[in-house]
Amino acid sequence: EAYIPKIIDVNYIEGSGDERWRSQNFPWTKKLEANNKKVFGNHSFRPNQREVINATMSGCDVFVLMPTGGGKSLTYQLPALVCPGITLVISPLVSLIQDQIMHLLQANIPAAYLSANMEWTEQQEILRELNSDYCKYKLLYVTPEKVAKSDALLRQLDSLYVRELLARIVIDEAHCVSQWGHDFRPDYQGLGILKQKFPNTPVLALTATATASVKEDVVQALGLVNCIIFRQSFNRSNLWYSVIPKTKKCLEDIDKFIRENHFDECGIIYCLSRMDCEKVAEKLQEYGHKAAFYHGSMDPAQRAFVQKQWSKDEINIICATVAFGMGINKPDVRFVIHHSLPKSIEGYHQECGRAGRDGQRSSCVLYYSYSDYIRVKHMLSQGSIEQSPLTGYGRANMTNSGRILETNTENLLRMVSFCENDVDCRRLLQLAHFGEKFDSATCKKTCDNCLKIKSFIEKDVTETAKQLVELVKLTGQHFSSSHILEVYRGSLNQFVKKHRHETVRLHGAGKHLAKGEASRVLHYLVVEDFLVEDVKKNDIYGSVSSILKVNEAKVRNLFGGQRIILRFPSSVKAPKQGKPEVTPAKGSLTSGKLCLPQIDTPVQPQREKDLDLS
Ligand code: ADP
Ligand code: MG
Ligand code: ZN
Repeated sequence: EAYIPKIIDVNYIEGSGDERWRSQNFPWTKKLEANNKKVFGNHSFRPNQREVINATMSGCDVFVLMPTGGGKSLTYQLPALVCPGITLVISPLVSLIQDQIMHLLQANIPAAYLSANMEWTEQQEILRELNSDYCKYKLLYVTPEKVAKSDALLRQLDSLYVRELLARIVIDEAHCVSQWGHDFRPDYQGLGILKQKFPNTPVLALTATATASVKEDVVQALGLVNCIIFRQSFNRSNLWYSVIPKTKKCLEDIDKFIRENHFDECGIIYCLSRMDCEKVAEKLQEYGHKAAFYHGSMDPAQRAFVQKQWSKDEINIICATVAFGMGINKPDVRFVIHHSLPKSIEGYHQECGRAGRDGQRSSCVLYYSYSDYIRVKHMLSQGSIEQSPLTGYGRANMTNSGRILETNTENLLRMVSFCENDVDCRRLLQLAHFGEKFDSATCKKTCDNCLKIKSFIEKDVTETAKQLVELVKLTGQHFSSSHILEVYRGSLNQFVKKHRHETVRLHGAGKHLAKGEASRVLHYLVVEDFLVEDVKKNDIYGSVSSILKVNEAKVRNLFGGQRIILRFPSSVKAPKQGKPEVTPAKGSLTSGKLCLPQIDTPVQPQREKDLDLS
């Protein structure tokens, strides 16, 4: 069988560990330092800020993955200030843009924005100013729709470019480019035109959330050239994670949890529907908490009022849909509770991330029930689920909606498997989703799974791994990981039945394994690149799905004697069939070190303590 290469060529260079970008001998270093202090009032740089600024000012295309609150804005605002010409910033929401402009003007940095709902004369005036040789603006913010629709803007950018005054193009919230992201925005996909038209202007793409496939999508769609990637650990060591089975007594449980751990402290409870928000808030009030609700069908003044009360600690608990959270910067949120299942791991990570910005210990508790999964799935298919303000734009037209639904379902399934996993470190699971390796020993029992595990056994899972790889091949490398797992466990649902003839040998081969074990091994195969998750785009219907392909080069080692040994909690029984082989075969490439929780080559050069999120 022919080797199937990765469809998307990796077109980027890792920048995070590169000493060159840390140098303080760039011609602009002194100017940066001075302006960072004087204009922005910062005493120093946060992790990766200096590196990103040096790379973009050297003229490279740069992709930045930095957690929310990490300080992404400075990485383009400071260069904008010290470079000649204008920086164009694409940002998804007018409200975010207005907020940024307000801050810039307060710091005496001239900035403007163009949006479709502005008076035409006002837009004209800004465009005219851009045309002037002494243009006063250092930054121009636009929405992606503006780039797509306004020829007048493109003409002005052309003229700036020709006069060598288009200093930099910034794509904020760059994950919106990708359908794999949780905030897909069709107009972001058209932004590739900028690199085509202005090839010599460096592009800086910024996001707080990107899985490997999102990242590749973004790099490709924007046409970034030899792009340098900066990322840092997304681990939030002060957040304590747990997933708790949701029962009928869920609200009593929540009351008890808050009372015992965070009484009178500030928190957010994320609810699925508007009605849930109101019900949960009412119940908590009955229990004696200062709670209020927040959702999309309240009028803006009412919403602003509730948010303000919460910010000023007049109420502690806000029961909200995901509409609540964008741009919220309250440092002392002590808990984030999910009253029902989040839509994706990215969403979960972001929502939890609103807790503990001040670095103090905070709790993230998710109440999970399978019936919530069905409910969320249904609401997604009906389009009746409330979205974050960013996502709302995603449902632009019918051709997109089918594709978005599929992506949503896949994202939701991953969230389900996160909740059902009662073995692996919650941090490791979240970070693996973002392509980050994490040594779960560093969790130090700050998640429910690490806490309950007392001892480990090492187990040779090579046979399971081989069977899973074979199964991927037998099914023609067309299917998602969830499908492969279903077949392996012997599931008999309609879809699986239909394909049974091809896979009869391995159908149900993993039946005897302990719960979660097969998915753990499959997960490992993907993380270690034996299997590659690929985006399948169906041109006729425009649908996408994630499918597993075999990386023949890696897999050859596996069938040539390499052993895979993983750690399991000692309660998991060894497989009934076959002898466990724990000694690595002679000459194999790896040793017992291959254990998933003990990966000793972290991709992330930044240690968690470097992550200043205050
Ligand atoms: P992001 O876009 O990554 O979510 P922002 O750019 O909005 O984050 O920055 C978050 C906060 O951090 C802002 O209040 C900003 O002023 C502050 N900040 C950014 N860089 C620094 C720094 N080097 N020192 C101190 N505060 C900083
Ligand atoms: Mg930002
Ligand atoms: Zn853990």
